[in-house]
Amino acid sequence: MHTIEVTGHRQREAWTAKEFPPVEEVRPGLWSIPVPIPDNPLRYILVYVFVLPDGVALIDTGWNAESSWDALVAGLHVTGHDIADVKHVSITHLHPDHFGLVPRLLEHVDPVIAMHRNDALHLRYCSPTEIDRQIEVDAAELAYLGAPPDDPAESGIRWFTRMPDGRDVDVELEHDQPLNLPGWNLRALWTPGHTAGHLCFADDDAGVVLTGDHLLPRISPNVSTNGFQAADPLADYLVSLAHTEKLGDLEALPSHEYRFRGLSNRVTHLLEHHEDRLTEITEAIRIHPESTPWEITRSVTWSRPFSDLPKNLAYMALRETNAHLIVLESRGAIVAAEGTPVRWSVAPPPIS
Ligand SMILES: [Zn+2]
Ligand SMILES: [Zn+2]
Repeated sequence: MHTIEVTGHRQREAWTAKEFPPVEEVRPGLWSIPVPIPDNPLRYILVYVFVLPDGVALIDTGWNAESSWDALVAGLHVTGHDIADVKHVSITHLHPDHFGLVPRLLEHVDPVIAMHRNDALHLRYCSPTEIDRQIEVDAAELAYLGAPPDDPAESGIRWFTRMPDGRDVDVELEHDQPLNLPGWNLRALWTPGHTAGHLCFADDDAGVVLTGDHLLPRISPNVSTNGFQAADPLADYLVSLAHTEKLGDLEALPSHEYRFRGLSNRVTHLLEHHEDRLTEITEAIRIHPESTPWEITRSVTWSRPFSDLPKNLAYMALRETNAHLIVLESRGAIVAAEGTPVRWSVAPPPIS
């Protein structure tokens, strides 16, 4: 078994009891603040606060909702600070539970905003017209994948917030770039997969790595195709996982659930999980050649019966399956009969 050692005991107790964990000082001057995500099974995101000589730096912000804002403000008070003290904000990725409160924060204070270019470029163009265009792209993709059409009014992209007009991200972080926060040795680690610009942040001196959604203790992060993603997101994710394994024995401070140690075991487990999934999907295609991605998604196992999944989770499952299909095609394991919808069959054995 590839076990991890839970280090966030109070966080896990709270997780099990379906409560919110406390604001905690993880290292001297490094705090974690749980910020609620309304109506979401993940329940909260952990915002991390690094105390600086003249204020604080945040990693992520929270979902754009009143209760989330209140929790962020109250959490900062527990650390002895206020919103006005926020000097830096580094974002792990563009998802609304991480970036969502940035526009609201900018109404009160003007910190340096840093994130990876691959995610920043989508925020820059996240205008209402761009969102409508993106929803059209997503609808065309659903048809290509053989799925019934989605209701554009329910598209998750509508939850994305963007930078205020005329305001841009200040620093586009690259892999291994130091954040230059006084008193800390934090550096950005580019870990594409969950999003194309996902960043982790490591501080070897403090012995921690903030893993964002790249690595969580219990669930396997969603890696799917969509208009904001790279061409082969799962291949990127598997490479990022392999890089994470080399970080050494740092305590993992994730964006959801609870802190843990045992990065390498967690990585091994996730790599095995995806290989098992790739095998299961190949077998499903072998039994039913010329299947659409939607048909394949329906025939593999999920945490609950596929027919019980709410519509948004069914589409997420489809896009996750599609990410696996792209990896299988690039490995030469399956071949497509092009058309709409696309249909997949197992590749014929090579002629020797
Ligand atoms: Zn995410
Ligand atoms: Zn998240």
